[in-house]
Amino acid sequence: MKVNIKVKNGAKAVACVAIACTVGFGLVGNANAATAPATKADSEQLILGSGSTELRVTKGTASKTVTAQSSQLAAAATTPSATANTLVLYDTGGQWGKLGELYAMNVANLTGHFGAFTARPVSTYTAGQMNNFTATIYIGSTYDEALPGVFLTDVATSTKPVIWMNHNIWQLTANTPDFQSKYGFMPWFYDNVAVSKVSYKGRDLTRSSDNAAGIMSYSAMDASKATVLASAVRSDGTSSPWAVRSGNLTYIGEIPFAYVNETDRQLIFADLLFDALAPATPERHRALVRIEDVGPDSDPAELRAIADYLSSQNVPFSFGVFPRFRNPNGIENNGVAEEYTLKQRPEVVAALRYMTSKGGTMLMHGWTHQLTGAANPYDGLSGNDFEFFAAHVDANDRVILDGPVPGDSVAWATGRINSSKRDFQRAKLPVPTIFEFPHYAGSAADYKAVRSMFTTRYERSLYFYGGLSGTIDNRTFVGQLFPYTVNDIYGSKVLPENLGNYEPEAYNHHPARHPADLVASAQANLIVRDGFASFFYHPFLGTEALAEIVTGIKAAGYTFVSPASL
Ligand SMILES: [Zn+2]
Repeated sequence: MKVNIKVKNGAKAVACVAIACTVGFGLVGNANAATAPATKADSEQLILGSGSTELRVTKGTASKTVTAQSSQLAAAATTPSATANTLVLYDTGGQWGKLGELYAMNVANLTGHFGAFTARPVSTYTAGQMNNFTATIYIGSTYDEALPGVFLTDVATSTKPVIWMNHNIWQLTANTPDFQSKYGFMPWFYDNVAVSKVSYKGRDLTRSSDNAAGIMSYSAMDASKATVLASAVRSDGTSSPWAVRSGNLTYIGEIPFAYVNETDRQLIFADLLFDALAPATPERHRALVRIEDVGPDSDPAELRAIADYLSSQNVPFSFGVFPRFRNPNGIENNGVAEEYTLKQRPEVVAALRYMTSKGGTMLMHGWTHQLTGAANPYDGLSGNDFEFFAAHVDANDRVILDGPVPGDSVAWATGRINSSKRDFQRAKLPVPTIFEFPHYAGSAADYKAVRSMFTTRYERSLYFYGGLSGTIDNRTFVGQLFPYTVNDIYGSKVLPENLGNYEPEAYNHHPARHPADLVASAQANLIVRDGFASFFYHPFLGTEALAEIVTGIKAAGYTFVSPASL
């Protein structure tokens, strides 16, 4: 029985989380910034965060002059119900200038939950520009990037919300003689004391111990004028402000996108955006569950058991399907290659119809969920390998993403998706309207192809340098997970997956992840006032752990909804 592959072959059981749990990348800046802001940091370097090595950021050179293509992207990202319009400003200078655009994509995507965005280098800012937007977010990623005087003046005089992250706040205080008396606080220097927790709304969010970057400290904090929104908690239990607000200015003393995971302090930023862009948003907590890696080789009985359990709990769900199974190397089949489609497995097709009847929404999870007979990165077996991106396992047993596959293009990806559609149609199944990349990975061209064929993706995603400025560098990218639906820089609606999945055993440096871990992540995500607890689950793991997770998420206060309702 082919279904036993999933039990015998560890890679099969765990492969789909090669990316899922670990999207993110690490940045350490200002390794010697104790004297900042008076002294320029002498060391900035990219390093890869623990467990985050799938998504590597290639060291870049100084970024080129950026042209604004983003207004078109912004238009594509507008939704009728979300009316905010955000200006995202980023740095471009210095050795690590490329980071500015990567962070700006992170920010722009999140603001895509609230409406349109325009992302530009801060160097292009023109006087009065921020008054045309609901709010402005500036990401200070380059130490001592020269900020336009009109920008500094507008921040100090505009009444529109401004969120400022990390560097160069000292240029604002220098340009605003009454800064301390007006705002009630004064940034001082980057404190490099280890901080592993950030407290917000009575909950502790995590901060990676690998993150050696400092967090801004303050020489003055007048509680009558400034509000500390979140506090960095040191190992000795003392704390210092992590984010502070006074009037229309919110300042965050670091960039919260380095070394992220499911319980990271980046969630605080995701929630603070509501204050700036949709302050009337009521508290609401919804949950999603997706059954993963369903294919022609799935066990119909397992699928029916999952559907029965979830419907018995009144839990709507989704299931990601690849319609063609390939095993070119004959893994667990005496070396004999095999290939078959859903049409050739009518019991599986019947089970998929049954899942739909029990509240399931079928998604397209690629075509074959592998690429060729060559390892990408495992063994060429459907469900194990990447389909739209090249990857290998390195000598340290880490999965490394290599870039676009040979022959990659919009036309290639479109052809592959059309092949998938045909295999659904041949099985007399409806063609899914939501797409999920196998292993959450595709090139910029592949995302473009999906955008032209689907309105919605449901996943974590990769964003490539040039996504805002126009010339894509497929080897410099960042991954991102979302706590709520967004309209991203590709112009797609993206449904969130932010808890990962049940993973009984560690592999490729990804830790095991138990039901309690997923529930704890769901609890951390409660700080997002209108956020989700969204996880996925492999059907061959049975229903016991699934029940633990569903019960725990419900007890945390979430209500399960169908992705079709979003
Ligand atoms: Zn998968």
